[in-house]
Amino acid sequence: MKLYNTKDKSESVSFKEALFRGIGSKSGLYMPVDIPLLQKSFFENIKEKTFQEICFEISNLLLKDEIPESSLQNIISNAINFDAPLVNLNDKIKVLELFHGPTLAFKDFGARFMAESFAHFIQNQNLETTILVATSGDTGSAVANAFYKKPGIKVILLYPAGKVSKIQEMQFATLGQNISALEISGTFDDCQSLVKKSFGDKEIARRINLSSANSINIARLIPQTFYYFRAYQQLANKSEPFIFCVPSGNLGNLTAGLISQKMGLPVHKFISAVNSNSVFSDYISTGDFNPRSSISTLSNAMDVGNPNNFERITEIFNSSHEEIKSNIESISISDKETIEVIKKVYDEFDYLIDPHGAVGFSAMQKFSQLYGHTKILLETAHPAKFGNVIKSAIGKNAELPESLKTSLTGKKQTVNLSGNFKELKEFLLQN
Ligand SMILES: *Cc1c(COP(=O)(O)O)cnc(C)c1O
Repeated sequence: MKLYNTKDKSESVSFKEALFRGIGSKSGLYMPVDIPLLQKSFFENIKEKTFQEICFEISNLLLKDEIPESSLQNIISNAINFDAPLVNLNDKIKVLELFHGPTLAFKDFGARFMAESFAHFIQNQNLETTILVATSGDTGSAVANAFYKKPGIKVILLYPAGKVSKIQEMQFATLGQNISALEISGTFDDCQSLVKKSFGDKEIARRINLSSANSINIARLIPQTFYYFRAYQQLANKSEPFIFCVPSGNLGNLTAGLISQKMGLPVHKFISAVNSNSVFSDYISTGDFNPRSSISTLSNAMDVGNPNNFERITEIFNSSHEEIKSNIESISISDKETIEVIKKVYDEFDYLIDPHGAVGFSAMQKFSQLYGHTKILLETAHPAKFGNVIKSAIGKNAELPESLKTSLTGKKQTVNLSGNFKELKEFLLQN
């Protein structure tokens, strides 16, 4: 697979290079030069395939020139060892549950595929790699869990102090071993910009083999296409038009959906649901992209003021706002609506959604012109990760899955840093 840099079209890299570098020169993102179409027969026979077979065929189409089939089979079977079931709330509204991985959020798909790809390329090499990642909550736990105890890899997580949920924090900050958690006084955007600065620093580059695990890494987006096809496979009636509703922050999940569409998935439209951080929904309605500081909300994993993958979306649509707008609807949902809709869905369908899914559900209801379509909501995290919000919405707690109970018993091991780049740099060079 050949990829180019969005900020410097002359830079061309392989998948392996894009995986290890994470981000291109001038902070550009890597995008595939070609997004190949899946064959008609893939769709005709999709009913008979297992989820892992679907994952394999998609990733093999993209990566066959770089990863031998048997290794790719291995990567898939280690990384995607959990399902993405489609649950019918009614005839027209379906929920794609993306929280059946070990850290109970969709980020397990990307993080695990990426970790296994790293492991594939560095096996038998004496190459120590440091993964630097900023997290608004779920990325941290998914990445930490996926790389935990993987030889040759160190993970350094930056997260905004006091702005992730207790459970999220416990999932990544108690592991120790090759995982360091840095608690930064600042916002998620501050963490993200510290990561970007580190990649641009010459001295760091000379002394450390740095890589990134944020959704800027293309290796996270590829596996996120898998479940869009898995959703399609589970649709009973494939001839009716269907749309996906994607709770969005950094827009990685949405970008993966758009790539799936380019690969031939017959999706009619996307709804990108955002919380009060409305940079993207404002762009859709006005055509102006104005990044700003993020605001804290109940759907904290979507508190992003400068969505990284926006650049990839404009690449897919040749920077045409008209084209983007005709394919993607977007709307901003308040915390108040988020709480209300958790209760409404619980009362009406006896189904508990998390605050991120609730932003999506609320957004879905706002587009009455899409009334006749089958709507698939991506449920991006398990509700039990957000206990307080659930409690205030429905008056009782969500049941904790077993895996969560164990992470809550660990001891927090973090390093506190200010948002000052010099401090982070010192830490990186010393550790
Ligand atoms: C990360 C995250 C999102 C936002 O996904 P993006 O790809 O950044 O748009 C939504 N919901 C949950 C639960 C998340 O962890």
